[in-house]
Amino acid sequence: MRVAVLSDVHANLHALEAVLAEIDAGGFDELWCLGDVVGYGPHPNECAALVRERATVCLAGNHDLVVLGKIPMTAFADDAGAAALWTQRILDDDSRTFLDGLEPLATRPGAELFHGSPRDPVWDYVLSEDVARQSFAATTEPLVLVGHSHVALQLSSEGVGLRGGTADAGTQLDLGGPRRLLNPGSVGQPRDGDPRAAWLELDTEAKIDNGKGRATFRRTAYPVELTQAEIRRQALPEVLAERLAHGV
Ligand code: ZN
Repeated sequence: MRVAVLSDVHANLHALEAVLAEIDAGGFDELWCLGDVVGYGPHPNECAALVRERATVCLAGNHDLVVLGKIPMTAFADDAGAAALWTQRILDDDSRTFLDGLEPLATRPGAELFHGSPRDPVWDYVLSEDVARQSFAATTEPLVLVGHSHVALQLSSEGVGLRGGTADAGTQLDLGGPRRLLNPGSVGQPRDGDPRAAWLELDTEAKIDNGKGRATFRRTAYPVELTQAEIRRQALPEVLAERLAHGV
């Protein structure tokens, strides 16, 4: 089985369409989305419709929950708050109904999925060794998938040891060995210095050496300047356009 794992689309339609084009060409069986379909970007309704149509499973992220009013807007800093207010105003009924049905965690065979982390699926960032250890301790499946930080990450748990770090484009991992915690990075607002849309390919049949199953970190170029122009046209905060060029 081949699975495309996406996270943090953030209403960036051009990034999502570019990634979906690669998925369509690649013969994938399932698409898993780890949340934050909306927030920050200029096309929340179009992105919600595409994810609803395509995803086998989709989680709720903190931005989705704020836009729905399930988390108070005061949880957000200025730029995120301004974008969330704008998103609330233009979100249509279909998008609202779709997002309202999502949870911040889910399971698939062999995998546990969280928007944030296993200890707090909505808000927690897996960016420290401490949180990574607690995330492995709180789960049992071979594969743990998280989003939320917008940084592509691969960690493995071997006995008491923890290995890994950020995951560049093309990084490949054997899924048959130690337990893994992977973050695909963000489709719509990467923050690891590579402005291309980030996502993750899982292939349960492929082998690295004698292993069983392979994960590949993917990056897809998209027309950043089109999303930037749309952000400016909607008078969303300028920093949300600017950062896309640098992947920060
Ligand atoms: Zn996010």
